[in-house]
Amino acid sequence: MSFLQLQGIEKYFGEHRAIKGIDLQIEKGEFVVFVGPSGCGKSTLLRLIAGLEAIDGGKLSLEGRDITQLPSSKRDLAMVFQSYALYPHMSVFENMSFALKLAKAPLAVIKEKVERAAQILNLTPYLQRTPKELSGGQRQRVAIGRAIVRAPKVFLFDEPLSNLDAALRGQTRVEIAKLHRELGATTIYVTHDQVEAMTLADRVVVLRDGQIEQVGSPLELYDRPANQFVAQFIGTPQMNVSTLAQMPATVRQQAPAGAVGGSIGLRPESVTLQPAGQGLVDGSVELVEALGAETLIYVSTPGGAQLVARQSTRSPLHAGDAVGVSIALEQAHWFDPQGRVVNA
Ligand code: ATP
Repeated sequence: MSFLQLQGIEKYFGEHRAIKGIDLQIEKGEFVVFVGPSGCGKSTLLRLIAGLEAIDGGKLSLEGRDITQLPSSKRDLAMVFQSYALYPHMSVFENMSFALKLAKAPLAVIKEKVERAAQILNLTPYLQRTPKELSGGQRQRVAIGRAIVRAPKVFLFDEPLSNLDAALRGQTRVEIAKLHRELGATTIYVTHDQVEAMTLADRVVVLRDGQIEQVGSPLELYDRPANQFVAQFIGTPQMNVSTLAQMPATVRQQAPAGAVGGSIGLRPESVTLQPAGQGLVDGSVELVEALGAETLIYVSTPGGAQLVARQSTRSPLHAGDAVGVSIALEQAHWFDPQGRVVNA
């Protein structure tokens, strides 16, 4: 029996079936990330687990106990939202201690728990400030601290970093990862940002249109995506996907039978560039992005394939240059016409 178990979970908004029979098992201490494009249902699924929306079908169990109909306040879960939802007129200390105070915990216990959480989150110097005297990142940490002091069975995060600027988002992401290592609390985290998903998760659940496309560790999803959707959702820049028709005959001949009429997927690191005439096919450079530690080179081929090559060295190439394009066929992903993976 898993710690948290979802069996055939359904949610309708009127006629719209937003969540379509989700089955998922989450183990104690796991960090699970729900990821997917806008509207795929990830926030709804989290809200169903939190008890903020009613479940229309299926069963939700926590530690073997059916909690499908249990009110949110009785589920022993704590949710951290994108909008921090702090009480503006209360100090950081009061915000963090609010739930414990409501639960009539002794003052000494409250003080100890809040101070410990503040220490973990580097909030000790700010305990007497009000939220408006804090930066966005500090406010988000207070919201997390408020969840920590309750010591819930499960932490639920709904896009907690999306209001922060890029630098702060990166820092806070690292803090959340450290926090998980320290507390080992079971965590479900919703994001549309696949980099967040890849860096934080023990397991990633990729959702699309109310259904699970694939569940796996970040590297399983990267290396062995089950279909073209997952293949192109995970990884930056996106996996190159070209139809076989856009590829030279040498590639078409090596495609597995099931991929006929389908496509080939190549990670940017599986595409390398040579001087013109020395690759598998000649192409034309469309754009060069020099990012410092790596260079992304966008190339088009006469067959109509658009490919991005990633290299860890600087490049002398410019838009308009002719290049030879080589591909590591042994690293290729093959897809049938429906976008399902075909094993080579
Ligand atoms: P985003 O990343 O944009 O927040 P999401 O994956 O979290 O998207 P949800 O917010 O879970 O998506 O929405 C899933 C689907 O359910 C969408 O089609 C949305 O329009 C619909 N939906 C969500 N909440 C409601 C609601 N309260 N009433 C009606 N439809 C809703």
